[in-house]
Amino acid sequence: MKIYISADMEGTAGVCSWEQCDPSNVAEYPIYRRYMSREVRAAIDGAREGGATEFVINDSHWDMRNLLWDELPDDVRVISGGRKPLSMSQGYGPGFAGALFTGYHGKAGEAGATLAHTYTSDSIFNVTINGTVCSEATLNAAFAGVYGVPLLMVSGDATIVRDVRAQMPWVAGVAVKDAIGYYAADSLTPQAACGAIRAGARDAVARAAEARPFVFEPPVAMEIELARVECADFVELMPDFVRIGGRTVRFVAPDYPSAYGAFVAAFRIAGAALVRA
Ligand SMILES: [Zn+2]
Repeated sequence: MKIYISADMEGTAGVCSWEQCDPSNVAEYPIYRRYMSREVRAAIDGAREGGATEFVINDSHWDMRNLLWDELPDDVRVISGGRKPLSMSQGYGPGFAGALFTGYHGKAGEAGATLAHTYTSDSIFNVTINGTVCSEATLNAAFAGVYGVPLLMVSGDATIVRDVRAQMPWVAGVAVKDAIGYYAADSLTPQAACGAIRAGARDAVARAAEARPFVFEPPVAMEIELARVECADFVELMPDFVRIGGRTVRFVAPDYPSAYGAFVAAFRIAGAALVRA
């Protein structure tokens, strides 16, 4: 039984500041990347107890070179390094029985969610697909859904757990912290969070048969509200992107992989447009 894990960092227990998640920070990041890695290890251990036998882990935060190899068991594969063309969803294919998301966090614009954002707070303000406001978990679960892979568990802050369970009621949620604000959280200790994640992953994998793939039915209409007008100036140059507002573009794709690929391209272009003249 093969399991895919997408590991993010802002939703890790204890994390409440960008400095803890920023690889250029030499004081706090080295400590918090270890906590992130241990949460992934806890998910692996729990999933194994639930019946999983094989793991692919996609390091899904920042430059995607965060996970500490010596915190992981020796029989897993890790997708590491950025930029990956498919970003947080790199590595899916046939044969996965389910996905687990660790370290996930509230979506861009969510009130009362620590470090809330959707892919990048630099250039993305809001993303909707077929009218549904998307978090990173929504976007990534829909990519898994293309391969018939259901999301089984999400761990992270309470806002993303609530959000995911509203969209995908079959997903087991492990909330490791409550947000007090954008830069503050009321958190479990990292050790307690690992215990909760291990138990959650075990139960989620054992009940995998009850989960369903999350799918956006085609045509897939994506609206991206960018953070700044100059981002939209360049994103709208891509074929079939339509400018529908000062900062907002719309793109209708025949299938979800095309929509997701266009989204990744759009936020990369938007990022490039942010260079200050
Ligand atoms: Zn994230």
